[in-house]
Amino acid sequence: MRIETVPISRINYLNLRNLILDKGLTMEDTIVLSTENFDDLILEYREIYKESMPIPHILLGVLIREAENEFVPLQSVIIIKDDTKSIRYLEAEDDFNYYEGEIFYRCGYCGNVVNNLGLVLEGQERKRAINYHENYQYKIVKHVDGKCCRP
Ligand SMILES: [Zn+2]
Repeated sequence: MRIETVPISRINYLNLRNLILDKGLTMEDTIVLSTENFDDLILEYREIYKESMPIPHILLGVLIREAENEFVPLQSVIIIKDDTKSIRYLEAEDDFNYYEGEIFYRCGYCGNVVNNLGLVLEGQERKRAINYHENYQYKIVKHVDGKCCRP
C-alpha cells in the first residue's frame, strides 16, 4: 500500500476520470477526497444522472471515497495504491447497472452488442448493455471484431 497526495486544480468528475487515466489507476487503487469535495461530487453526480450517486462509488474501477481519518490538503486528493484495506462493492445488489467506466463492446462491423471477445450478447446481458448505452453519459464504447461478422 502506497499513499500519494496529488494536487488537482478542480475536483470534479471529469478531472477525477482524467487523473485515473493519467496515473493508470486500477481496481486495486482508491482515491480519497475531503468531505467537502466528496459532497460536491455527489451534487455533480445528481445533476448529471438525475439520481443519487451510488456509494461506495466506483469510477473506472477505482473506489472514490470520503476521507475518514486522512488529512486531504486543499485542492488535492489522496491516492492509495494497492489499497488492500478497501472493501469494494461492484453494484452487488443491482447487477443490471453497469458501474461507471465499465466498457461497452460493440461489433465494429454491424454494431451488435458483444462482449470483449466479440461474442454476441443475449437475453439479460443484452438488455443490460443496451440500457447502459442509452443511459450513461460517460460510457466507454469499444469496437471489436464481432463473431457475428467475423466468425
Ligand atoms: Zn457484427
